[in-house]
Amino acid sequence: MNDSKLILVTGGSGLVGKAIEELVTLQKRENEKWIFASRKDANLCDYKATKDLFTKYKPTHVIHLAAKVGGLFDNISNNLDFLDNLHINDNVLQASYETGVKKVVSCLSTCIFPDKTNYPIDETMVHYGPPHDSNFGYSYAKRMIDILNRAYYQKHGCQFTSVIPCNVFGPHDNYNLKSGHVIPALIRRLYDDITAGKTQFTVYGSGKPLRQFIYSKDLAKLFVWVLFEYNEIEPIILSVDESEEVSIQHLAREVAKAFDYNDEIVFDTTKADGQYKKTASNAKLRSYLPNFEFTPFSIAVKESVDWYKKNHESARN
Ligand code: NDP
Repeated sequence: MNDSKLILVTGGSGLVGKAIEELVTLQKRENEKWIFASRKDANLCDYKATKDLFTKYKPTHVIHLAAKVGGLFDNISNNLDFLDNLHINDNVLQASYETGVKKVVSCLSTCIFPDKTNYPIDETMVHYGPPHDSNFGYSYAKRMIDILNRAYYQKHGCQFTSVIPCNVFGPHDNYNLKSGHVIPALIRRLYDDITAGKTQFTVYGSGKPLRQFIYSKDLAKLFVWVLFEYNEIEPIILSVDESEEVSIQHLAREVAKAFDYNDEIVFDTTKADGQYKKTASNAKLRSYLPNFEFTPFSIAVKESVDWYKKNHESARN
């Protein structure tokens, strides 16, 4: 029996796509060919371009990462642009169905959960109330993936599922100060401050909000596991344990430590904090993989800082 697999990764040039590429390249996996597609290969907002991509590669499996992604300050002012994700997801799932893809894993996020909810959040709560006002466009577009997955399964028996990562960080992140997430933004700003000889590092917000962060290299391993071993249509949260939740203040100090920066850190409370917390339970993940070991936070932050120091010229600034 020919069990060779062709895995198409949409969004393959991004933070998570690059981590998966590095992992599968290192593992030299047999009977698997991996294609990492970016916007250069197809604009997935366009149905025809999406279908052409799928017809060209005829994937058996898809990891669907492509999305317009941004940090708090980008989301607040651009909710309409983030609804582009509706088109991308619709096109990718339709093309997957039409070309007979066996399995699709798409990507939700813990930041799309209801704003007013009980903690910890779990997979059953995705649709139970409006998301935080700051990112309603991104959130509703992402939530629709779960609806599409259920509908494709109901009508056609498609194995389309989704994962819900917490905040991701690592090499190849987006270091743009307008659109980047908190970790790459702090890394970029502290790098720039140190280079400019400044002795005061300003962090936006009070530093009090709490977040769970997953290292992209750990997430890559979990994605490959979900693709081949996880057989539910319902989403699964891919997050570090609740005990690993950290404040932005703690994060800022870890970034400073990784840079060996010992000068002053100040918190600019005139800037928005965003949601105070969105603690997610990884109990479902732990029920499948009780022994999965996450990279310790300080090591992952250090590796990410070292990567940026080495690659800042070619990084997405
Ligand atoms: P990045 O912003 O690093 O990468 C986005 C990827 O999507 C890039 O490869 C980009 O291609 C591609 N892309 C964007 N728009 C289009 C388009 N119209 N057509 C084709 N490709 C497109 O994202 P991440 O790696 O951070 O995120 C991956 C997934 O994980 C996303 O679905 C995101 O929502 C989800 N997620 C991310 C989290 C995070 O903290 N980063 C947290 C939780 C979920 P190009 O490089 O060519 O522009």
